[in-house]
Amino acid sequence: MSSDRTTETEVLVVGAGPAGLMLATELRLSGVDTVLVERQDRRPDFCRGFNLNARALDLLARRGLADRFLAEGWQAPHAPTAGLPVTLDLAGAHTDHPFSLGIPQTRVEELLEDHARDLGTDPRRGHRLDDLTQDGTGVTATIGTAGDTYRIRAGYLVGCDGGRSTVRGRAGVDFPGTDATRFSLLGDVELADPDALPFGMTAGPGGSVFTIPRPGYVRIVTEDPTPPERKDAPVTLDQLRHAVATALGRPVELRAPRWLTRFGDAARQASRYRAGRVLLAGDAAHIHPPAGAIGVNVALDDAVNLGWKLAATVRGTAPAGLLDSYHDERHAAGTQLLASTRAQVLLAEPDDRTAPLVDFLTRLAGDPGVLRALAEAVTGLDTRYPMRPETSHPWLGRLLPDLALVTPTTRTRLSALLATGRGVLLDLAPWPSLAETAAGWRDRVDIVPARCPEHPDLLAALVRPDGHLAWVRTSASGDDAGLPEALEHWFGPS
Ligand SMILES: Cc1cc2nc3c(=O)[nH]c(=O)nc-3n(C[C@H](O)[C@H](O)[C@H](O)COP(=O)(O)OP(=O)(O)OC[C@H]3O[C@@H](n4cnc5c(N)ncnc54)[C@H](O)[C@@H]3O)c2cc1C
Repeated sequence: MSSDRTTETEVLVVGAGPAGLMLATELRLSGVDTVLVERQDRRPDFCRGFNLNARALDLLARRGLADRFLAEGWQAPHAPTAGLPVTLDLAGAHTDHPFSLGIPQTRVEELLEDHARDLGTDPRRGHRLDDLTQDGTGVTATIGTAGDTYRIRAGYLVGCDGGRSTVRGRAGVDFPGTDATRFSLLGDVELADPDALPFGMTAGPGGSVFTIPRPGYVRIVTEDPTPPERKDAPVTLDQLRHAVATALGRPVELRAPRWLTRFGDAARQASRYRAGRVLLAGDAAHIHPPAGAIGVNVALDDAVNLGWKLAATVRGTAPAGLLDSYHDERHAAGTQLLASTRAQVLLAEPDDRTAPLVDFLTRLAGDPGVLRALAEAVTGLDTRYPMRPETSHPWLGRLLPDLALVTPTTRTRLSALLATGRGVLLDLAPWPSLAETAAGWRDRVDIVPARCPEHPDLLAALVRPDGHLAWVRTSASGDDAGLPEALEHWFGPS
């Protein structure tokens, strides 16, 4: 049944995966009226990812959220990676969380959904975006439910609806890249004989099988020797058994399948993350091989970058170009992500041509500096956005470490100051003219006088709501020149 009903909201978010849930919480934190629609009635029984990486934890910490995830997971002091026979140790990396957290994606989503609900956005489950049109003042979305069709009129619409994004297609955004050439089968199953496969990689004459322990079952991943014409055709237990036997040259009895699927190494990226009043985030904006286990993490990263910019745009305080900087910053990060995941796939190929490259990179990775650079690259910890004005400070544009601070009234950390989702200007001198210079931005930026005993050379720092350092003054770098330009660039005129 179709109805003429039209409801209104400031932002419509489509898809309640990690990107959509995180974005909804960011928008609600800034007081933006947000509707979140999700086509599935309930979360699926299976779980795709099993980790949060160091950068995702750093970002969650800047909203006061990391502890609830840390309380539930286990920590491994390195970054997941494929291709090189080295452990990407995170000690000394540019992060407050030098480890990967083992936690099911389903649980990450549940915790984010609880938080979204606390902030006033309850996902509308069983509500599917079917179509959208946009004009100069907003977007009209057609939403289908089991028994009804209705419309939502929104100022902006964000497609967080996964790799096969309807939003991306309806908004006319291209998705260039490469098709999958290799496919893997994944099965969450039980081993009839628990000793038949050790955990980790087992190599055989025809390939290899990865066995990952899960509570009460194992996850098996192996190459699909005979991918069908239709790559999304259902996978059967017999196909998985056949693939394992082909790889190992011996049968392994698998039973009680919980989830069987196939995935490929396609890599595509939306040509634009913004098309007028429609934006894309997470898998809707980029798909890539699963090497490096990073999809959930990048989805959160996109959402944190977009949230405050879209909120300022909706509020009418955003400077020209702020919303477009979402595309500029995250498209560039996405391009690097595709390159790093594709490189990991190539390095993992048992190929005479790549073997010298693997040897060469492995030798270089013996240098702790190179190892750290690799770990930061595959986790996105090396993310650095262009700032205005640019200076040579090594932290500029990067996530500012979670500094311990002493304010006139209390001991605190930068993450606690950022938890409101506003910009923060740390006045660490203290420096009388700084508060005067920034006075015109007080409605958007918290000016916090404090001391930072760990870094006495740091005299002042402007931090964007997403935690990235926008401007810095040190004992070596002069006065407040550049501060008004930086404030205006990210927060609009005074
Ligand atoms: C086998 C496998 C293993 C993986 N392992 C890992 C891992 O270990 N670590 C990691 O970080 N990542 C992993 N990933 C990747 C990760 O699962 C994704 O990158 C991540 O889920 C992307 O989040 P998202 O919010 O962008 O999209 P999704 O999680 O796909 O969420 C999109 C949501 O939009 C909804 N939707 C779609 N269309 C509509 C519509 N028209 N209307 C309303 N709602 C709609 C969908 O139902 C879905 O809930 C893995 C992926 C796979 C396939």
